[in-house]
Amino acid sequence: MEVDRVGIVGIKDTLGRELREMRISVTDRCNFRCSYCMPLEQYEWIDRREILTFEEITRLAGLFLRSGVEEIRITGGEPLLRHGLDTLVSALAGLEGLRDLSLTTNASHLKNQAARLMRAGLRRINVSLDTIHPARFRALTKRDNLASVLEGLMTARLLGLAPIKINSVVQRGVNDDDILPLVDFARRNGFWLRFIEFMDVGNSNQWVSERMMSKREILEIIHARYPLEEAGRSDPSAPAVNYRYVDRGGDIGVIASVTEPFCIGCTRARLTADGRLVLCLFSDRSVDLKRLLRTGADDREILATIRSAWEARADRYSEERLEAMKAGEYEPGSRRKIEMISIGG
Ligand code: SAM
Ligand code: SF4
Ligand code: SF4
Repeated sequence: MEVDRVGIVGIKDTLGRELREMRISVTDRCNFRCSYCMPLEQYEWIDRREILTFEEITRLAGLFLRSGVEEIRITGGEPLLRHGLDTLVSALAGLEGLRDLSLTTNASHLKNQAARLMRAGLRRINVSLDTIHPARFRALTKRDNLASVLEGLMTARLLGLAPIKINSVVQRGVNDDDILPLVDFARRNGFWLRFIEFMDVGNSNQWVSERMMSKREILEIIHARYPLEEAGRSDPSAPAVNYRYVDRGGDIGVIASVTEPFCIGCTRARLTADGRLVLCLFSDRSVDLKRLLRTGADDREILATIRSAWEARADRYSEERLEAMKAGEYEPGSRRKIEMISIGG
């Protein structure tokens, strides 16, 4: 444990990784049913009374900042389904010590909310979009909302949210032929683009390694049309490896969680919508911070709980998965994990 700024305690886990970033899920509900994330129509939804209030989230966020966190991303489920999200954005944006506040969304409700969110202090967003073809979009999300997603993206751009990053999960035989159309779309409109290797998150997405397109394969397809040069990671803990188009610069990257895991640089924790602290995307364990909040724990007690959880952290699931895959021993369903909709990617 090191005190590096006034009142800010930098804590390290068992592998020497500092707690630097939080992903805060504000709801487990979503209006889409992406096959790789939330394929079923019904889940055991979190009881509304168990969902953290904005005041509770803001209090915890302040305590995370005092534990060394500098970056917060709001996520879900679909965060824009949470009523009055701009009120939370405004509270978080006002927290001292927060260097970066962002939001990950499917953008279907962005058109009407972008201006309010910006006024509240949001500066940048990530939008998940895996195809720009309406029929494919319908097949992937089980919903017919491509037009509203595109309107959301264009509204955000017009208002000046920047950068706008598009995240696309690539599945072999499902949307690998969408890679170049997405590249063209992003280049044409000035969006950053991140392809994501299909991961075995949660327990219901039927992950098989054959369906995962590797970073190398994705880059080969793009490079053949638009030659790329590597630009590296924006910082050592960033999940994406970035590239520039040789012909005109621009920003494109790949998050290779499966074939080139980056656990050793993982400085990120997650807070579920019902107030559980989760230390790895693939974990099945959590620390119940809501119980502390609602039983009157003081700041000191909550800070100590966050610290001891992080200091005991040894998670390196993606590296272990790669080792097991190489040894031919990986069984995707062998381990129970928290669903992606609870922890927000
Ligand atoms: N609903 C919002 C959205 O889609 O942007 C936020 C939550 S969503 C769970 C966050 C991110 O997780 C999305 O970019 C999504 O593509 C990604 N994701 C979900 N399941 C995934 C999987 N199996 N493999 C890779 N990424 C996944
Ligand atoms: Fe919803 Fe996002 Fe999951 Fe798709 S990826 S089902 S939009 S939470
Ligand atoms: Fe971090 Fe866990 Fe992902 Fe590794 S598998 S990068 S430890 S969240």
